[in-house]
Amino acid sequence: MARVTKASVAASSEWVAPDGVRQPGGEVHAWLPGTNQTVCGLALSRTRLRRFPHVTFDFRATDVVTTADEIRYVCPRCVAATTRRGERSWTRTAPRP
Ligand SMILES: [Zn+2]
Repeated sequence: MARVTKASVAASSEWVAPDGVRQPGGEVHAWLPGTNQTVCGLALSRTRLRRFPHVTFDFRATDVVTTADEIRYVCPRCVAATTRRGERSWTRTAPRP
């Protein structure tokens, strides 16, 4: 079973946090260190996405991107590939009506 367990972030832009650490911004995808494409299949070299091996891809389908965030867009395909059913118990919706 091909499952993404330890993905880092690839993003279209970057900014530096107050602590001096590069952080992803713009469009964000999941990326497995050691590969040259995102989890959803984009080639890093062609899309010019920057790699953030120190940033774990930890976005979920329920996350809401606000205007205060540097991140404008989180790839839903990468989110789906990294949050498989049963792996997390973050669901907030009522299970049944
Ligand atoms: Zn993606």
